Amino acid sequence: MLSFWEKETWFRNLDLVVVGGGLVGLTTALSYQKRFPRSRILVLERAPIGLGASTRNAGFACYGSPSELLDDMESSAPEAVWKRVEQRWTGFQKLVNLLGPKNMGYEPLGGRELFRSQALDPLDAVENRLSELNQVLKDVFGAPPFEVEAKIPVELGLKGFARSIRLPFEGQIDTGRTLHSLMRLAREKDIELLHGLKVVDYEDAGWGVWVDTEVGRFRTRNLALCTNGFARQLWPEASIQPARAQVLITEPISGLGLKGIYHVHKGYYYFRNVGDRILLGGGRHKFRQAESTARLVTTAQVQKHLEQFLRRHLSPGLAPLVSESWAGIMGFGAQNEKAVLVEKMSARVVCGVRLGGMGIAIGASVGEQTAALIDA
Ligand SMILES: Cc1cc2nc3c(=O)[nH]c(=O)nc-3n(C[C@H](O)[C@H](O)[C@H](O)COP(=O)(O)OP(=O)(O)OC[C@H]3O[C@@H](n4cnc5c(N)ncnc54)[C@H](O)[C@@H]3O)c2cc1C
Repeated sequence: MLSFWEKETWFRNLDLVVVGGGLVGLTTALSYQKRFPRSRILVLERAPIGLGASTRNAGFACYGSPSELLDDMESSAPEAVWKRVEQRWTGFQKLVNLLGPKNMGYEPLGGRELFRSQALDPLDAVENRLSELNQVLKDVFGAPPFEVEAKIPVELGLKGFARSIRLPFEGQIDTGRTLHSLMRLAREKDIELLHGLKVVDYEDAGWGVWVDTEVGRFRTRNLALCTNGFARQLWPEASIQPARAQVLITEPISGLGLKGIYHVHKGYYYFRNVGDRILLGGGRHKFRQAESTARLVTTAQVQKHLEQFLRRHLSPGLAPLVSESWAGIMGFGAQNEKAVLVEKMSARVVCGVRLGGMGIAIGASVGEQTAALIDA
């Protein structure tokens, strides 16, 4: 139970409680604070640092590779796909403006989409539509965003890829440093962050919201649910599917020439350099049912699959050893769709969830949109 002192100091006269201390929760709190500078805001995060996606992701500042965009068009209208690219591009600029590139460890090294054999990754279908994609998207980026490369540079140390398309506008961030900077900024703005406190229930009483935590109940004028892949724990009927993503990172590799971010097979495999290491993730499409879970553990099956991918596609001379692996949880639509869910759920409760694998690019915009739905 909360003591009198704890209630008085941390839980009195709250204007907004945000549940979830990831990219969206923190940018929701910051955006609300910007709208109402005198408000009292509390962010509640169940884990000591965060335990979802924002401190566990791959750090790609990416806007959609050509095969990913064409794949998206199978389930969404082209206009919706173009719009999403624009939202990702402008959303990432928002995050950079908020924190500054240095505080995010941002490196604009560009990216590539790589194609294996025609049977695995049909390049023809992509090449046939590349000029159409470039034509539409040059207005978003100020220049065509995709360039077919004559030859994959040998110094990258890759093998087993037939062709590549360069994505010069992409970049990479330091995931840990970005969240750390966001937390620091929130504290500087007098936003209270409490870590290690799980919200177990809430009740919109009209005049405000009762919030039930593991240590007791208190009230707030407004509540924002920013729990992404875990949203169904507090909102069982939400149309959100947790999706686990697993990654590994290698030991430092002597002579590594690979720089930038790399996408393979519609983005289902992704890798990048982190200094002189390689971070590799993906393969979720091969184990879709098992990976549709909010359980934060790695599995031998997926890790073995990723290690095989690494061996198959890195030159033997590089001989990487895996140093660490981890998992994170994303939130997708029930049919694996990518639509973000920002909604007023009741008079005083809003949500900003379901960011798929796009949170670095769109997280700050989703936070801003979520905060815009909350009353004073
Ligand atoms: C392995 C991996 C790689 C990725 N790579 C990229 C990438 O390269 N580029 C990209 O753009 N996106 C990537 N993503 C996706 C991106 O990380 C997410 O879209 C983004 O971090 C979502 O932010 P969020 O704040 O909505 O969710 P989260 O960061 O998951 O935050 C939600 C928080 O809510 C907390 N929480 C849950 N329930 C409760 C509760 N009841 N009480 C209190 N707290 C609670 C959780 O502990 C969690 O910290 C990746 C994701 C993963 C997992």
